[in-house]
Amino acid sequence: MRILIVEDEKDLNRLIENRLTREGYITDSCFDGAEAMEYLRAADYDAVILDLMLPGIDGMQVLRAARGMNNQVPILILSARSDTKDIVAGLDAGADDYMVKPFDFDELLARLRLITLRRVETRENIYRCGGLEVDTNHKTVRRNDIIIPVSPREYALLLYLIRNQGIVVTRQQIVDNIYKLDQDINSNVVDVYIRLLRKKVDVGFEHKLIHTIRGMGYVLEYTEKRRNHHSQPSNSERR
Ligand code: CA
Repeated sequence: MRILIVEDEKDLNRLIENRLTREGYITDSCFDGAEAMEYLRAADYDAVILDLMLPGIDGMQVLRAARGMNNQVPILILSARSDTKDIVAGLDAGADDYMVKPFDFDELLARLRLITLRRVETRENIYRCGGLEVDTNHKTVRRNDIIIPVSPREYALLLYLIRNQGIVVTRQQIVDNIYKLDQDINSNVVDVYIRLLRKKVDVGFEHKLIHTIRGMGYVLEYTEKRRNHHSQPSNSERR
């Protein structure tokens, strides 16, 4: 995670930098608005900590300019301005969060975690695996660029599998995570939906993506060599 720190008070800038570095973040520091604009143009950050009162171009101008050029990097304003109207103006201009100085470092870190997490979610709106594509914006599924119609339950299951690609998920995890509110779904029904999905996304393709891990659950992954012991149907599927 790479964070840009825009803060003209040198001691505070260094303090934030030290703490973030200790937490495992990679940081760049800049000390005025013009510099901030250059950094934002040059690099792709996971978040920006932005002071408002800066020499030259102020923080609000940096924020507006960034959003104006469609830079959607998460921005957390860290300012001594504590008036509600300043906070509202900052959020309205496209800031993801606003913290008032003096601030608590643990809170800053928590808020940073939150806005960077949101970023990951909105950024990765298309999941891909071996020619399979799940587009969460349009709720569509494609394999090799051909649209595959799926029911809402199949879609939910496929999305869960592809979000966790390479990780074995149990039937119970599938039920708990995606069919929680569905009264008529239990872990046996999961096998039925897996079978339906396989017909749509795997049958007729050289590389199978949905694998059964006997006694454990399922995993969606792309492997060059077909892992036969993973792709055999389980007992419940043979029924
Ligand atoms: Ca300042």
